[in-house]
Amino acid sequence: MMRCVAALLTALMLLTPATHAANDVFEENEEPAEVVEVEQDWRLLLVNPWNKLPEDLEPELESLPNGLQVDARIFDDLTAMLTDCQKAGLRPVVCSAYRTKQTQTRLHNNKIARLQAAGYSKEAAVREAGRWVAVPGTSEHQTGLAVDLVSASYQVLNRKQEQTKEQKWLMEHCWEYGFILRFPSDKSDVTGIGYEPWHYRYVGKETALAMRDSGLCLEEYLTALESTQKNVQDVHTQENQAVDKPGNVGKRKGRVCGAGPQDVSERNRA
Ligand SMILES: [Zn+2]
Repeated sequence: MMRCVAALLTALMLLTPATHAANDVFEENEEPAEVVEVEQDWRLLLVNPWNKLPEDLEPELESLPNGLQVDARIFDDLTAMLTDCQKAGLRPVVCSAYRTKQTQTRLHNNKIARLQAAGYSKEAAVREAGRWVAVPGTSEHQTGLAVDLVSASYQVLNRKQEQTKEQKWLMEHCWEYGFILRFPSDKSDVTGIGYEPWHYRYVGKETALAMRDSGLCLEEYLTALESTQKNVQDVHTQENQAVDKPGNVGKRKGRVCGAGPQDVSERNRA
């Protein structure tokens, strides 16, 4: 867990220059007067069943060779990952990327219609559909920061996808390019989404590395980051109390690994 906290602190220093600058001021004046607002990092945008997409989000898009689009800011790292995967003799395929609200709505409505055709009541169909196709406004695909990657030789979106050579390579190397496997098999209670061994989300290389080292999923990581930032601020308000004091680490330990959304009864697919 020391490693976990160390990774988070490292990530904090890398990701929050605004806090850095403010802390420098604290050290000079020794009397911080107000809470520091940490600049929002676009790479850490959280979208899940409990956190809807910002209404005004309009990512600048760039087209992949197959015509699908992603946020232009992740294009180079995604291309590098796919190119290196191909160089390893593998055939990864991007089967889903950016989706408009209209596309997500159509996918969601299609699922509801199929369930109703199978005998579900309207209410039950709506409830069940949310478990398999994310409700519009709660899908990472609408951010342009997520892609579904499959093996050219096996393009079915089910658990067997994890057994393909492409997924094994991607799961091992994705963090090097700033991507994470967003919905791991052991985090469904926290993410609200079932295991998806094909859905990769861009978070940037520093965060991807910190998440790999800490073993946290995105919800846990962001909660821990927030907690760590608060602790760092608290430390500065307590006359430069040492940040690695055993008592403090113990407090963080519980907050870092025990955090997550409260209501996780509904599990959705992104
Ligand atoms: Zn996906």
